Amino acid sequence: MPILLFLILHWYLSLFAQTFFHHRYGAHKMFTMNPFWEKFFFIFTWITQGSSYLNPRAYAIMHRMHHAYSDTEKDPHSPHYFRDAFQMIWKTKDYYYALVSHQVEPEARFDKNYPTWPKLEK
Ligand SMILES: [Zn+2]
Repeated sequence: MPILLFLILHWYLSLFAQTFFHHRYGAHKMFTMNPFWEKFFFIFTWITQGSSYLNPRAYAIMHRMHHAYSDTEKDPHSPHYFRDAFQMIWKTKDYYYALVSHQVEPEARFDKNYPTWPKLEK
């Protein structure tokens, strides 16, 4: 029972971290946080997502591109341009890591106003 409870808690907290911190705050700037709470949610997200932690910059850029180019060839994870779901996930992963390692240069309009904490991200 404690393991099941841990897994359920981990699932919902990581989901909350993604929708609250990565999506609404990082990608869309739907609200502001002072530096303390931003650092708090960085750590909260890092702990709750564990090995699935996503870099907020890469997430924000990809998500903004997804909204700007929904279901076109420039959408980084549109299901319409891949043979199957596995191809889509693999290409999404490749583009995500290219953004994390700065191997691709996104449009300037997508590459700003997201939370960063280089020491934690490193
Ligand atoms: Zn969105």
